[in-house]
This record gives sequence, structure tokens and C-alpha cells, in this order.
Amino acid sequence: MERPDFSVDDEGYWEKKYKQLLSDIKQEFPNFAIIPKKTSKFSQMLGRLTFWNKDFNRTYSTTIGPKIYTSEVWKDHPAMNRFATMVHERIHMRQTQKYGFLAFFAVFGLIPLPAKIAYFRRKWEWEAYKVGICVRFLKGGREAVLDPKFIKYLLDQFCGAFYLWTWHSRKAIIKDLLRVLHALERNTLTWEKIIHQRRLPWGVKPLKAPLLLRLLYPAEMQ
Ligand SMILES: [Zn+2]
Repeated sequence: MERPDFSVDDEGYWEKKYKQLLSDIKQEFPNFAIIPKKTSKFSQMLGRLTFWNKDFNRTYSTTIGPKIYTSEVWKDHPAMNRFATMVHERIHMRQTQKYGFLAFFAVFGLIPLPAKIAYFRRKWEWEAYKVGICVRFLKGGREAVLDPKFIKYLLDQFCGAFYLWTWHSRKAIIKDLLRVLHALERNTLTWEKIIHQRRLPWGVKPLKAPLLLRLLYPAEMQ
């Protein structure tokens, strides 16, 4: 897909880009599906398990294998935001594909500690958050990336409750952000590089959910 023009502010343009992205993802992951959280028992259960994040089902999308569970407010988001979120989630799909479903979630959740020093959660989420940083950069340059509201949002994601206090040091996250910004400015990091992160060679089979989950949630976990 050629690089979208992030300066375009036209819903129709982004709706088209979004649809095209969905069909690209479907090609890469034939089991890809978008499931509204509201209609999913599995996601209601996850919502209860992630009790520290009250907005889990209301505002956050969650990717499990090739399924993306969308929040209650998903449809209200502008198409460009939905586009960027899907690119972010596709990176998680590739990470899961690479490591396998269970290993991915165990390592993502627990290694070396479930909170404060969740090294892999920070690493793998950061790979996906680069998408959002890049979108801001291409749309509004350095200023947009260094917008205090955006920095607060990032710190909330990595040091706050949503991902169970992934990282203890806000300074480290800001350093990561500056590193990405400099790379974008020097053009050593590009949109193309970011969206191709972790893409596996064509023909690699998409993963299957473990048997127990397939039995419990047959419609969502085939
Ligand atoms: Zn993520």
C-alpha cells in the first residue's frame, strides 16, 4: 500500500484507506475478524479479569491472535484513527504469530515481572505505539509529537494502570519517544519501516487458538 497522505482531512479518503487496510490484513491473516466487544462473551470475561482498567471494554480495542475486539466507542472514531489503530493491532497479530498464542501472552504479561518491570510488554507495545507516534509526526511534525497531551497519554499507557503499570520509569519512556522522534526526523525510521515491522514471509500459516479456548468460545476462536 502506498503511503497514505496524513495531511488529508477528509473522512471519505480515510474510510477508503481503512477498508483497504482491512482487506490487506485479511490477506495476511485469513482468520482475521473484527468483533465488537459488546457482543463477545470472551471479551466480557476479559473485562472482568482486567479489573484495574475500568475502560477496558468501553474505550480500548484488544487483539487476541487474529481477532480484534473493538471498543464500544469504536464506530465513533474518525476513520484515520481507526486506520492507525488497526495498523497498531496488526503488529500485535504478527508478534503473536511469531511467538505463538500462549507464549506471547505469558511473556507479554509476566516476564520478568507482571508490573513495573514488564520488559516484554514494554518492548512489544512500544513497537506498536511507534505507529501512533509516526502518524502524529507525519501529520503535525515535531510539535505534534511533543504535545504535552500526547506525552501524558503515552505515559499513562506505559506507566499507568491500563497495562498494569508496565514500566516504572517515566524518564525511560520519554527517552524512547525522543529516540523515535529523532529517527523520524533523520528519516532513518519511516512509515514503511514501521508498518512492515515483524511481517512474516508470505505463506506462513496463521496461528490457531489453543483447544480449550476453541471449545469455550467456538464462534470466536476457530
Ligand atoms: Zn497495543
